[in-house]
Amino acid sequence: MVYDLVIVGGGPAGASAAIFAGRAGLRTAVVDDGTSMALKAVVNNHLGLPDGVDGPDFLALGRRHAVTAGAEWIETQTTSLAVADDVVTLGTADGQALQARDVLLTQGTNTALAEEAGITVEAGREPWIKSVMTVDAEGRTSAPNVWAAGTVGGTSVHTIIVAGDGARVAVNLISARRGARHVDHDKLDDPVG
Ligand SMILES: Cc1cc2nc3c(=O)[nH]c(=O)nc-3n(C[C@H](O)[C@H](O)[C@H](O)COP(=O)(O)OP(=O)(O)OC[C@H]3O[C@@H](n4cnc5c(N)ncnc54)[C@H](O)[C@@H]3O)c2cc1C
Repeated sequence: MVYDLVIVGGGPAGASAAIFAGRAGLRTAVVDDGTSMALKAVVNNHLGLPDGVDGPDFLALGRRHAVTAGAEWIETQTTSLAVADDVVTLGTADGQALQARDVLLTQGTNTALAEEAGITVEAGREPWIKSVMTVDAEGRTSAPNVWAAGTVGGTSVHTIIVAGDGARVAVNLISARRGARHVDHDKLDDPVG
């Protein structure tokens, strides 16, 4: 079975991308090894959460939302990435070989997997972020069908910004596959005014 999209990293960037991909009907999996930097955070600056939220609770909400949207959540570490014949293959620590038409890297501070696969990285500009993937305006890396978003895509290290970036790149890759801009809007049955 070949996934439409495998997202490596289930922090806010990856979970947000998974929500858009799952709702768009893409066969989507998130692979996550449970080391998000948000595990240590108390988030008091995220739109819609005026009372703040502990990082672990925030991550759990993201996972629940992604799964509700249709994404599969796989708890393991991705250990290798190879691109051949329009399919990206990800090896995992528990011996799986996951195949996908597109892969989105949302690995936070971790660029090792991409570097080992020969994907171009560059110096990070945010505090504590040593390296990030080199991406184009859409979020494509130097490898075909491999995209990056969130911290590892070079965005500002804040939950609202990386979540927005995950959604942005997901919309770009959905649109690229479909050949038309993708929009995901639901509307009220009885709008006021
Ligand atoms: C102490 C602290 C406090 C913070 N406070 C705030 C705050 O108040 N407000 C705010 O906006 N931001 C805060 N942040 C920043 C916030 O946590 C980050 O912006 C956010 O978590 C980045 O999201 P991300 O999805 O890019 O990366 P992460 O959240 O780091 O997610 C990356 C995910 O990728 C997974 N992963 C990596 N490599 C692999 C692999 N090979 N295989 C499988 N999975 C992999 C990891 O397990 C992880 O879950 C804080 C950060 C810290 C450290």
